[in-house]
Amino acid sequence: MTDARHDSEHWRQRDLAVLWHPCTQMREHPDTLPLVPIARGERAWLIDHDGGRYLDAVSSWWTNLFGHANPRIADAVARQAHELEHVIFAGFSHEPAIRLAEKLVELTPKGLERVFYAENGSAAVEIALKMSFHSHRNRGNQKRTRFVALTNGYHGETLGALSMADIPLYRRTYAPLLLEPIFAPSPDAWHAEPGESAQHVARRRADELAAIFERHGEEISALILEPLVQCAGGMRMHHPDYLRRARQLCDQYGVHLIADEIAVGFGRTGSLFACEQAGISPDFICLSKGLTGGFLPLAAVLTTNNVYEAFLDDSRERAFLHSHSYGGNPLGCAAALETLAIFEDEDVIARNRTTAQLMARLATPIAEHPCVGELRQTGMILAFELVHSRETRRGFDPSRKVGLRAYRHALERGVLLRPLGDILYWMPPYCVDERDLERLAAVTASAIETATAN
Ligand code: PMP
Repeated sequence: MTDARHDSEHWRQRDLAVLWHPCTQMREHPDTLPLVPIARGERAWLIDHDGGRYLDAVSSWWTNLFGHANPRIADAVARQAHELEHVIFAGFSHEPAIRLAEKLVELTPKGLERVFYAENGSAAVEIALKMSFHSHRNRGNQKRTRFVALTNGYHGETLGALSMADIPLYRRTYAPLLLEPIFAPSPDAWHAEPGESAQHVARRRADELAAIFERHGEEISALILEPLVQCAGGMRMHHPDYLRRARQLCDQYGVHLIADEIAVGFGRTGSLFACEQAGISPDFICLSKGLTGGFLPLAAVLTTNNVYEAFLDDSRERAFLHSHSYGGNPLGCAAALETLAIFEDEDVIARNRTTAQLMARLATPIAEHPCVGELRQTGMILAFELVHSRETRRGFDPSRKVGLRAYRHALERGVLLRPLGDILYWMPPYCVDERDLERLAAVTASAIETATAN
């Protein structure tokens, strides 16, 4: 429902008078960066109040799968809203939550049999961390009080989740407030020695993880990681061998493995879940973002019956008392059920493979630009690492704001290409078509040209 009497400038002014936006230096609005009020969405496009159109190349922070205002999901949410909008989820239950949990157990890697709902990705990470710690404690082990996380990882913004993150921009300010995990070196293939394969980096890093487990194995509750792609860390990618070794080490030392598939789940990497490509089952999987097709905030943590059973007791203190008022919200569950129905009806994973090939074909010539240090891709995630020098792989001086300049350039040409530092990436909704991608490629090429020019 848009107000046709008002144009974008009208909404921009009203917004900037009262709102504080996430992940934004508000000082940059409106002079350095335009704020873009959006009136409606259609497939992979966002449309402003003046009729301006923006191709959503980042799926609105990696949430959208099947297009904005997707009619199937919109109808499912509307139907549910007329039946039951919400109900307390302690002592009460409802059909969409039950059906969705059954589906998630069926679709996620083997052994994940219990579903706990929350409202967003950070909350899901908090839940997995607390559940892991608490389950060891309930089994009489008080020593497992530490977590292992990977360098360059990201797991959200609440204090527990942020504690597991290793991106200085987000972490540094709050460091005095945070838990201190043991950081294991990321298997990120970007850091390969000259001539070293991604697989070799993964194995070398797994050896370093083994050394950490050897020293601290008895104090560690869980290892948390983003399988295959460290998204907020710059779409950095690694070989699945690391995940296989991590699984073995966790088994050997009695440590839980938490797979944060909040960004990479639901088909982004070429399989429904990234863990599938390593053939492993984690002890916890955290899901959100694409879970509802990008419609509503909902998260799910799945775990094993073994973890679940550690909480069954006469004592309430041994129960997992964590709660969020809107956990398991029926509207979110209805959106998620319809999203999973689309996966079933439309053979999405196979179609995504074709789209991913098209993305690769269009990106390859762009990567010939001397400031593209690397073009990398895992399924529907593709990134260009912009560097000052390809030979040394040295990045640009941050004061040049190369990523920001590329962002503005693309925005002026109707493409939302929000970078991660100086890394440009494509992570479009799955309904993106060939014409959309050709436009994306043309604008990306000119954005790189302009932003890196002296
Ligand atoms: N984990 C990962 C891997 C993420 O990418 C994100 C969000 N970008 C989160 C957790 C946090 O999710 P949310 O923003 O819903 O709290």
